[in-house]
Amino acid sequence: MEITKLTLHELQQKFRTKELHPRDAIKALEERIVQVEPKVRALLHWDVEGAMQLAERVDISLPLGGLPIAIKDAIHVEGDLCTCASRMLARYRAPYDATVITRLRAAGAIPFTRTNMDEFSMGSSNETSAVQPTYNPWDLQRTPGGSSGGSAAAVAAREAFVALGSDTGGSIRQPAAFCGCVGLKPTYGRVSRYGLVALASSLDQIGPLARSTRDCAMVFNAIAGKDPKDSTCLECAQEDFTREFNLGVKGLRLGIPKEYFVEGMDSQVRSAVEKVIQQCSELGAEIVELSLPHTQYAVNAYYILATAEASSNLARFDGVRYGYYAEGPQSLFDHYRRSREEGFGSEVKRRIILGTYVLSSGYYDAYYLRAQRVRTLIREDFKEAFSKVDALVCPTSPDVAFRLGERRDNPLRMYLADVFTIATNLAGICGISVPCGFAIVEGSSLPIGVQFLGNALEEAKLLRLANAYELASGWTACTAIL
Ligand code: GLN
Repeated sequence: MEITKLTLHELQQKFRTKELHPRDAIKALEERIVQVEPKVRALLHWDVEGAMQLAERVDISLPLGGLPIAIKDAIHVEGDLCTCASRMLARYRAPYDATVITRLRAAGAIPFTRTNMDEFSMGSSNETSAVQPTYNPWDLQRTPGGSSGGSAAAVAAREAFVALGSDTGGSIRQPAAFCGCVGLKPTYGRVSRYGLVALASSLDQIGPLARSTRDCAMVFNAIAGKDPKDSTCLECAQEDFTREFNLGVKGLRLGIPKEYFVEGMDSQVRSAVEKVIQQCSELGAEIVELSLPHTQYAVNAYYILATAEASSNLARFDGVRYGYYAEGPQSLFDHYRRSREEGFGSEVKRRIILGTYVLSSGYYDAYYLRAQRVRTLIREDFKEAFSKVDALVCPTSPDVAFRLGERRDNPLRMYLADVFTIATNLAGICGISVPCGFAIVEGSSLPIGVQFLGNALEEAKLLRLANAYELASGWTACTAIL
């Protein structure tokens, strides 16, 4: 049996029948890492011994008993490095567990391996990582997407069964689409952000990347829920997000937003997503065409709000309290200036400058305030849509995985990679990307993702739809051959 080919759910069954022990899973992952990591470079650090120790004394009867999970390097795991793929935090060790980690441990899961990312989650290709780019396991010349590209690549390359990522403007869904994984961005406030290094606090959410919707729901069951340590976390009863899995899509009304099928998108992506819509219709869903009229302003509003929040959040990295500091400063100002200059990469600096500018007096009303108003309009668009339909169907990304280096020097083109994912974060609703086929590009088969969007707190319905589509389409658990 090739253990790393199992889904998380299958692995759980094997643990419960005692056919496998958690240590077998860690060992299998370790062997796989040795084999493929030199090519994929999805991981930043890992501790086999520590994971083995946890595996020895874990309680298999717990909901995620003994199941290993890879963690994006922006999430605090006590005692572990938490670098955000930045020079700034290269030696920073987490002094406590993030709430998601506390919850995963309580459910019996074993945090194992830390995944690469764009520096401080800023990017769509993993190329802003100060450590290394990650390579897409389906075509090593291409990007896995970002910023949770390491998490997606690790799952697709079978270096992990599931992983946690974070999504501020698409960072779970876009890499999931590029790597052929399932990736869920929960409703804002559904999952605690305590212990996640913030990019933009009003947009960030942690969520799972997996090889099936069931695996995704299993992890989500464990991490979702109220947290007194995060005041933006919503008060919701504990739910089982697989509970609607047998209901299928019959009777659901699905909206097709016309703004998400635009001129210039990849024709193979378009036809794959159109096929999904047709399949959903054949399965009994009612298809409704509709409009989200303010979609075209989402990217602009996002890059004002997200940079404004980032400039404020990243002010804490002053060379005094955390991480990197410059040697031999001439003065206190010199200490701040050089520590930040040397510690941050160029994309991070670009965003701090942009964000500081849009918040500065004289420009605040023209940019920040206006972007907030646009955000409200976008939120209203979705409210109106969800008064008519249960969920929306659209592409996750206008393209499949692009070549490494292709957009690195063109920030604007890079920013447009998130054109279909950003509005979800601005509205605070939930979204999931599910594999829906492959595009053939220059001889490579590259995964395509379809995105289902749901109203706030409707993850159960969203997962039901995603699961029904997944079962009907048969794209589940396709993994890259390496
Ligand atoms: N690619 C987007 C950005 O660079 C989204 C990032 C994210 O979701 N963390 O801001």
